[in-house]
Formats: sequence, structure tokens, C-alpha cells
Amino acid sequence: MLLRHTPTEVSERKALMINPAKTCQPIGAMYAALGIHGCLPHSHGSQGCCAYHRSALTRHYKEPVSASTSSFTEGASVFGGQANLLQAIENIFTVYEPEVIAVHTTCLSETIGDDLKQIAHKAQKDGKIPEGKFVIGAPTPSYVGSHVTGFSNMVKAMAQLATPGTPKNGKVNIIPGWVEPSDMKEIKRLASMMDIKITLFPDTSGVLDSPLTGEYKMFPEGGVTMKELKDTGGATGTLALGEWCSADAARWLDSKCKVPCTVLDMPFGLAATDRFVDVLRTVAGVSVPDSIANERGQLVDLISDMHQYFYGKKVAIFGDPDQLISMCEFLRSIDMIPVHVITGTPGKAFEKRIREITADMPGEVNVKAKGDLFQLHQWIKNEPVDLLIGNSYGKYVARDEDIPFLRWGFPILDRQGHQYFPTVGYKGGLRLLESILNLLLDRKDRDEPEESFELVL
Ligand code: SF4
Repeated sequence: MLLRHTPTEVSERKALMINPAKTCQPIGAMYAALGIHGCLPHSHGSQGCCAYHRSALTRHYKEPVSASTSSFTEGASVFGGQANLLQAIENIFTVYEPEVIAVHTTCLSETIGDDLKQIAHKAQKDGKIPEGKFVIGAPTPSYVGSHVTGFSNMVKAMAQLATPGTPKNGKVNIIPGWVEPSDMKEIKRLASMMDIKITLFPDTSGVLDSPLTGEYKMFPEGGVTMKELKDTGGATGTLALGEWCSADAARWLDSKCKVPCTVLDMPFGLAATDRFVDVLRTVAGVSVPDSIANERGQLVDLISDMHQYFYGKKVAIFGDPDQLISMCEFLRSIDMIPVHVITGTPGKAFEKRIREITADMPGEVNVKAKGDLFQLHQWIKNEPVDLLIGNSYGKYVARDEDIPFLRWGFPILDRQGHQYFPTVGYKGGLRLLESILNLLLDRKDRDEPEESFELVL
């Protein structure tokens, strides 16, 4: 009973968060930056922030994550970090030779008021940025928003590389949102099955799931190139997957470069994948091949085979808003009941959307944006569930309440493989269903009395 002090009685809290269901903005910015080919993320702040952000990503992706820091000390904290960043830019291009440095701020540099655009401009003027190389930047103050906001801000900085007036190139931009490298690969696979040329950004496939070859590469093969990012202004359209992660960048491309955008849910589960495939084929002007219809049919088949086990099972789920919206829709489509839903990221629109998705449930959903795991635990104590879904931090609640626990989301610190197995698309739906069913049936095998212990379930 690690969380034995969590009381069942829920009391209103206004100024206290206990076990937040989020982490800080720069982690998202760092993850997004790793999806650019030849990019070194740079943390404009003190060393401690950078070490934490790198270790959070390394622990989840099980890959060494490189990033540099402006290494603030007392002087920079008082007088500003411009001198540190200028020196850092010069050193990084000299020593590590990246194509691009993606700078994000931290709480400290934001509080001081450092202006990344102005510093990057000065670096350019002073000749510290070599010909053909780039410095981009995103503000990521961690006292607002969450890691999702930081991700979105860096993705918008990528979109801002697009040049208005770029000739049309017949490609479709897809902004996948914060998903696993395997999910990004799966989105690219679906597009190639439809014979559609896309620019996916960011793209961490080939970066954070690269093979072990015995040879260290500071900048792996994967990632969207700077040329591709500049050409996004000439695309036929942009699909932004997730309002919180991707919409800002897509809307910027729409308003500044006249690339029409469609904001969709992330393609987790049958219905959200259907919408993704349908909009993608419409924007590109192609038809859906039989091979994709076949994958869809397999998912429908598995849903009908497994439905009897899912029906009426209660679920508590926490994580990031874009993921939760699609997942709750998927759970409802297989007649599971997401009774408690929490995200640490702020946004009342999230609560409204979850209420709409769960409107047909027998009881009313407990849903909260900017919530914490303490509250989720209290809700579970008051209304127990059959399954908990979320990142590794949920394991304490799962253990205390003896609930089957599906690790899904970010961060997953105590399991492996998530970077290799997609959960988006129809194939990803199969994996999600298999994982959920195995947890439910393992529990049945564990708890059933001997007289009802069956070989065939
Ligand atoms: S919350 Fe702020 S100070 Fe703390 S690690 Fe994140 S950026 Fe640094």
C-alpha cells in the first residue's frame, strides 16, 4: 500500500497538485526537435533542467538522447543568457556539426525574459551560424501548459520554416502529434499504401528506434529534413493529428502559406483511423486500396471476436488530451466504460469533448483537465474499475487497488518495446485490443475459483 494515505473522501483543492499527470514543457520541445534530421536540441537554461529532460526521454525511448545546454549560473540568471547562448551556438556548430540547433527556453530564461529570436538574429549577424545551417527556437515556459504545449510550440517553430509562395509540390503535410516512432512509421506506411507523397513532421522514426550496429551516430538517419520543412508551404494540404499537439502549426501554415488544414483526432482505434484515411485520400485525391480495406476488416473481425469480454468493463484512464480523446472513443466503440478520465494538460475543451464521447454511457463520466493522479486514485476508490490505462506512474495506484494496468502513453519507464510496436492505425488497433484482452483474461485466470478455471476462455 504505497499510497495508503490517499483518502476516499474527495475534498476540493485549488492550490495543490499531488502526483501531476504531466511533465514540463521543454521535454515535449526536445522530443519534437529530435524529429528533425541532424538536429541537436538545445536547452536555454541551467544544466539541471537539461539533464532531467534528457533522462526522461532516454528512459522512455531506451536510446541515448543528446542535447546541449546554455549552462546558466548566477551571472546569466541575473543579467540574461544571451552571452551563454551565443557562445553555445558557436561551440555546437564547431564541435558537433549539426544541421540545425533547436533551442527551447526553460522557466528561468523565460522569467528573465530572454528573446530567442533576437539572440538567433544576433548570432546570424555575428557570423556564428555557418552557411546552410540553422537555429530555430520555441518558447517553453514550464509554469504554463505541459509537455504537450512544449511539443506543440516546437512543431509550430518547424512550420514557421515554410516559405510563403513556395510552388505547389503535390505533397500532403501530416503532423502526427506526440506519438511513438513506431506510430510515425505506421502513418508513413499507410500513406505509402495509398501512394501519397507526404511530409511528416516531426518524424522520430529512424532516430529513437534506430538499430544497434556497433557504430555510434550522433545524428541518426531519420528525421524530416530542413529542405522538406521549407517545402511544407507548397503542400496540397495539412492534416494535423490532435488539437493540442499539432493544430497550431497547421493553422500557421494555413494562414501564412495558404495550405489548407484539417485538424483530426489521432488515429487510435477504428473510427479515428477511418476518419484519418478518409481525409487523407480526399486531400490527395486518391482511392483507398484493398490492402487497407483488408487491414480494417481484420480489426473489425477482432473487435467482434473479443467484444464479449470487453462489454461493460469499467476503465480509468489518464494521459495526454489528444491520445485520451481517441482512446475513449475506441473504448466506447467496444462497449467498455471509461468512468474516470484525467489529463494533466489544461483545457476545458478536453472535458467537453470527453463528455460528448461518453454521453451514451450508463452513468456520467468523471473527467478533469489539469488534474492529478491523487484525484484519479480517489475516484477509483469511490467507484472501482476493471482496468487502468496510463503511463508508468499509474503502477502505484494499480498495485494499491489491485487493478490490471495497461501501460500506454508517455512516459513508460518500466517496460520496453513501445517504440517498436505501433498503436495507431488498424494494425495498432489490433495491438491495443490484444493488450487489453490479455490483461482482462490473465486476471480472470488468476481470480477464478478452481471449479470455474477453464482451459478455453
Ligand atoms: S519545470 Fe522549469 S525549472 Fe523545472 S525542469 Fe522544467 S524547465 Fe526546468
